[in-house]
Amino acid sequence: MQSFVVMQGETYQVERELGIITSPQKDSGGQEPHSWLRMKEINVGDRIFHYVKGYIVAISVAKTDCYVISKTLDIESQKKNTSDNDYLVELEYYELEEPLNVLSNFREISPLLPIKYSPFQQDGNGNPGYLYPCNEQLVIKLLELISDLNIYRVDEEQLELAIGTVRRTEHNNFIPMIAEMESEVKLMIRKGHEKFRKELLPLWANKCALCDIELPILLQASHSKPWKDSTHIERINPFNGILLCCNHDALYSKGYIAFDGQGRLHISSSIPEEDYLIYNISPKKKIARYEENKPYFKWHLKNIFS
Ligand SMILES: [Zn+2]
Repeated sequence: MQSFVVMQGETYQVERELGIITSPQKDSGGQEPHSWLRMKEINVGDRIFHYVKGYIVAISVAKTDCYVISKTLDIESQKKNTSDNDYLVELEYYELEEPLNVLSNFREISPLLPIKYSPFQQDGNGNPGYLYPCNEQLVIKLLELISDLNIYRVDEEQLELAIGTVRRTEHNNFIPMIAEMESEVKLMIRKGHEKFRKELLPLWANKCALCDIELPILLQASHSKPWKDSTHIERINPFNGILLCCNHDALYSKGYIAFDGQGRLHISSSIPEEDYLIYNISPKKKIARYEENKPYFKWHLKNIFS
């Protein structure tokens, strides 16, 4: 199962009534924008978040794979576009009773957005374009925020005990859909991480690449290119990572340290030199990396290191 965000704006009402999403194949210049071409990736069972004017207003489940529909009979559409055919996916729409305002929740959403092909801009507004990928970590966060608004109502007097009551029992099919989506996505993340860690551990002789700590409970399989930015294959590629202790993993994933293509350690200027000993890092450190680590170390150095 994959997830996407579709930016609908004016087209939402019509598309919801028809139970579809649709886009042209080519623009007037004959180009294929990525956000239209991505329609082809949708398969039956995939989930889509619908974004309209600042809000996630619905979630849908694809009832068909993407297919191409001829619009030779639709004269109005033909006037607007040069392509003869459109991409189309049939969907089961679940409209939210309480839409989710992206901007007011952007502090939680923003860290989960990919650097490339993010549905939202850095200021919290939607990007132009039609269909964007939605990584699993972002799915979990959106579902949490949507559930808080639409499923659970914590009564004032119950706040102390933090017990929620189910709010919308009349929409019985909405709650199982959300629950199923959440558990499927969590399983995907867990299975992915398990495989990644299992294959990464022996590459680094089961110890931190920087300080030789061997205690398994302290060892993290750290991604160089994070989950949110990786393709499905990159996420489980053990060379897209390095084995580090918890401390060094935190420094690495937050961009305080990085490695170049040769495996030389780079240290952020935000760590004062006199603290290097405390953190057990040295600018002279060079690790024995694999050739396959190179592109991922370079990506991390360029995009995460600061
Ligand atoms: Zn370490």
